[in-house]
Amino acid sequence: MSTAAGPLPDLRAEPLEALGRLMAELREKPFRARQLFRWLHRRGAATFEEMSDLPRELRAELAARYALPTLARHEERRSRDGTIKWTWRTADGQLVESVYMPHVGDGDDEEEPANRDRRTLCVSTQVGCAMGCTFCLTATMGLRRQLGAGEIVDQVHRANRRLVELGEGKAPRPLTNLVFMGMGEPLHNYEALKAALEILLHEEGPDFSHRHVTVSTSGLVPGIERLGAETRVKLAISLNASSDAGRDALMPVNRKWPIGELLAACRRFPMKQGRRITFEYVLLGGVNDTDDDARRLARLLAGIPAKVNLIPYNENPGLPHTAPGPGRVEAFRALLMAGGVTAVVRRNRGRDIAAACGQLAAGPPAARVRAVR
Ligand code: SAH
Ligand code: SF4
Repeated sequence: MSTAAGPLPDLRAEPLEALGRLMAELREKPFRARQLFRWLHRRGAATFEEMSDLPRELRAELAARYALPTLARHEERRSRDGTIKWTWRTADGQLVESVYMPHVGDGDDEEEPANRDRRTLCVSTQVGCAMGCTFCLTATMGLRRQLGAGEIVDQVHRANRRLVELGEGKAPRPLTNLVFMGMGEPLHNYEALKAALEILLHEEGPDFSHRHVTVSTSGLVPGIERLGAETRVKLAISLNASSDAGRDALMPVNRKWPIGELLAACRRFPMKQGRRITFEYVLLGGVNDTDDDARRLARLLAGIPAKVNLIPYNENPGLPHTAPGPGRVEAFRALLMAGGVTAVVRRNRGRDIAAACGQLAAGPPAARVRAVR
């Protein structure tokens, strides 16, 4: 079996148009392309054998030209609150995680009826992360490798299939929402992210609505520009500080694209009517959680259609930070609201299974690779 990095390309990463060209080359009827795409991306086929209404010779021809590296379920942990964390094993033995959250949206409800039944998957885009944020467990892994578009998409397919088995939601696609907030920096793997989004939003595939898909970034400004120009998905920014000095210390990416440039890119981001950008702000005890921080943050966001998600720090062994003190989170939120900024406190989901924000890391630390110095 070849791997994503091996000699054969991953069939799951191919857009429908490429399958169309392939069928023409193989002198197959054009409808076969759509049939294959639907097997892969609507029904989530794990193997060529499953595609029982494709001629045997065609399946053999496909298998000779393409690999179909399907993620294996390495571990499944289920939280008391309904959250499920899956650790997947890639064809080359890397571990990546996805987190399922029932009845949680992407933190931005403006375009949604209040009580829609939501089933959200938090998706990973890299094995580890190169960005080096001081509070995040994924950072301690360094970047081991990029995930391919097929591997990004397959997290969604494997999760959907498993949820159907568990009797959650409607087959074949129990998931309603996707957030790219798992392991890795999505915009540091832009091409694969974009190819994966095109498949995941395709009407012949899983057919997610762009209103239900959010990409979160630590602030890679050129990637934000491209995302805005080339897709229609929603944007979340991990801001986490109210001044450049504070953000430089927590997030090395800020030294390259400081807050002013980042927020200028946010102001330019194309926004549909009623949409808002979500700003994530991890509250670190004694570091970024003072009244002054809250007031500065409100001033920074003035004029941007914004919503702040406050995330009380999830403590990780070996990392220097602590959770904010009692009362701090509410006081911080109240100051933001008083400053005219909508702010919600993100409930800590799946903490009992280490599935909460910033707690995703699989396997022992490796040599760290940094994207930004
Ligand atoms: N790399 C992208 C996508 C990952 S999102 C990004 O950073 O936006 C992961 C989110 O979890 C980020 O908003 C990050 O600020 C937050 N986070 C990281 N470590 C955390 C921790 N220990 N406690 C709470 N939130 C954390
Ligand atoms: Fe990477 Fe995001 Fe964690 Fe920073 S917060 S290290 S960008 S995953």
